[in-house]
Amino acid sequence: MDMMDIPQERKLITEVPGPKSRALFERRAAAIPLGVANLHPIVTARASGAIVEDVDGNRLIDLATGISVLNVGHTPPEVVAAAQRQLELDTHTCFHVTANEPYIELAERLNALVPIDGPVKTMFANSGAEAVENAVKIARKATGRSAVVAFDHAFHGRTLMGMSLTAKVMPYKQGMGPFAPEVYRLPFAYAYRWPGGPERCAEEALAYAVDEMHKHIGEDNIACVVLEPIQGEGGFIVPAPGFVEGIAEFCATNGIVFVADEIQSGMGRAGRWFAIEAEDVHPDIVTSAKSLGGGLPISAISGRADLMDAVHVGGLGGTYGGNPVAAAAALAVLDLIERDALLDRANVVGDTIMARLRALEERHPQIGEVRGRGAMCAMELVEDPDTKEPLVADTMNRIAGGALEGGVIVLTAGTYGNVIRLLPPLTIEELLLADGLDVLEEAVDAALG
Ligand SMILES: *Cc1c(COP(=O)(O)O)cnc(C)c1O
Repeated sequence: MDMMDIPQERKLITEVPGPKSRALFERRAAAIPLGVANLHPIVTARASGAIVEDVDGNRLIDLATGISVLNVGHTPPEVVAAAQRQLELDTHTCFHVTANEPYIELAERLNALVPIDGPVKTMFANSGAEAVENAVKIARKATGRSAVVAFDHAFHGRTLMGMSLTAKVMPYKQGMGPFAPEVYRLPFAYAYRWPGGPERCAEEALAYAVDEMHKHIGEDNIACVVLEPIQGEGGFIVPAPGFVEGIAEFCATNGIVFVADEIQSGMGRAGRWFAIEAEDVHPDIVTSAKSLGGGLPISAISGRADLMDAVHVGGLGGTYGGNPVAAAAALAVLDLIERDALLDRANVVGDTIMARLRALEERHPQIGEVRGRGAMCAMELVEDPDTKEPLVADTMNRIAGGALEGGVIVLTAGTYGNVIRLLPPLTIEELLLADGLDVLEEAVDAALG
């Protein structure tokens, strides 16, 4: 066992949050602005595999993975070693000043992995939002057009363009406009809440989108459509079958760049390298981040070489983009996903979770829908299955808070905040996952009665 390994077991030695976390949160309140949200009042001391150990020594099962960042688990020795090695060799020269090999190698690796047709090139930035910004810059420059299409329930980051593309006003946008111009929003094929019913969802959503792009935006004005193949923050919404394919076809026919934002759904989370591989679609640009760096900040913009090369020299980049330490960590992450067959593991983990959520759904009519693909699974909760009125925040908090008190970290999501999403490491041991799901189940039973 590695020196820093933590036993992969849940263990509570104080109440959660414990006294040390509470004391640090007092300092946090005085030193750090309110707007930087904390979902759980816990301070991490260290983490390994699927366990987060807090400053009070409690060992919590992590079914959140820092919002989809630790698909390969916390601090896997191979990723730590790769980053450490690179730290000693070269931490930064800026790729624009003198290049580094990890950047070049990582670009080659991603070029071979992304489901884009033909020659591909990749550039790096630091965060998901920056990847989306760059995708839009490239699409606009390559097409000479300005309009950008995004969807209801979308999340694309917190920079000006990211925030403009993001759908939900509270908390992401309220009072922070004006937003970037030339952003247009269309309905997403959200089957559970489609007014015409789930069977008609894909067809109707697509027909509406096509009509809107044609009549109200004008296809010749659209630089790109930015779409999450499975929406993340929006509530793990798996688009109704056929919708994504139809949108991609419309893009291809009309010279519109189709951007798949795989920042949350990629890197094996949905049982494939990229979630969009489940559709019969080849995007023009793919954005990656989150689990790419295994905890180190790095994002990638991979695209058709002709699009990527449409930008003049100096039009793309940034001081830290493709930082060698983060790139070296990312290479180790890709190696681990391959070596440990984590795409298959994602499906096994997902099957376990879905079986448990479906059993819960049978007991509780307030579980309106259980959905997901691979290990990207969620349940949407409602007050009443007929009206689909979202479950009130108070009850949602009792579920997430109850799980935390029991030693399990889960996240909520969704436009209405009424989705419990599960993002365990793909490497999580079966028994630990079962234990985590037991605790969640108890919290759901207690909250829903
Ligand atoms: C998290 C996320 C982003 C933003 O990434 P940051 O690294 O937080 O800037 C963009 N798109 C999607 C789909 C995301 O889930």
